[in-house]
Amino acid sequence: MLRSERDDAVNRLAVFRDETERLKVDQAALFKVRAEMALLRQQTNELSRLAAGVRQLRNLQRVDEAQASVQPLSVLSDLERCRDNLRRISAAVEQYALEKKQVQGEKVYPGDILPYLVKKELPHCPAGGIYSLRGVGNDATCSMDGHTL
Ligand SMILES: [Zn+2]
Repeated sequence: MLRSERDDAVNRLAVFRDETERLKVDQAALFKVRAEMALLRQQTNELSRLAAGVRQLRNLQRVDEAQASVQPLSVLSDLERCRDNLRRISAAVEQYALEKKQVQGEKVYPGDILPYLVKKELPHCPAGGIYSLRGVGNDATCSMDGHTL
């Protein structure tokens, strides 16, 4: 072999080695990118799972709020407000009987007790029931089912 040919072969071998090293580095970088992508995919899945969880929680919260605002405030407080009205009416009857010296069981008319009521008017059942006066010594009643003192 001529000296120059040998040098040439050595040079080419060196170039080949460099190339191999570079390819190794490229491959390592590629593996790293692949691993990062897998991690990203995993994180994306986790994020969408979390987002779904948050949506579910929000829906539950909305249901809770809807129940809180609909049930106790409309149904329950109608009854509570009606009871409050019945107590006021009965108190007015008592006061009227006391001032007018009425005896137990004597009939009482709405006009009799108006002066003892707020705004001088008979309160109304919030659920549309009709109030009846049951005479001196008896509590007023509401015609709505369950609206009792
Ligand atoms: Zn009522």
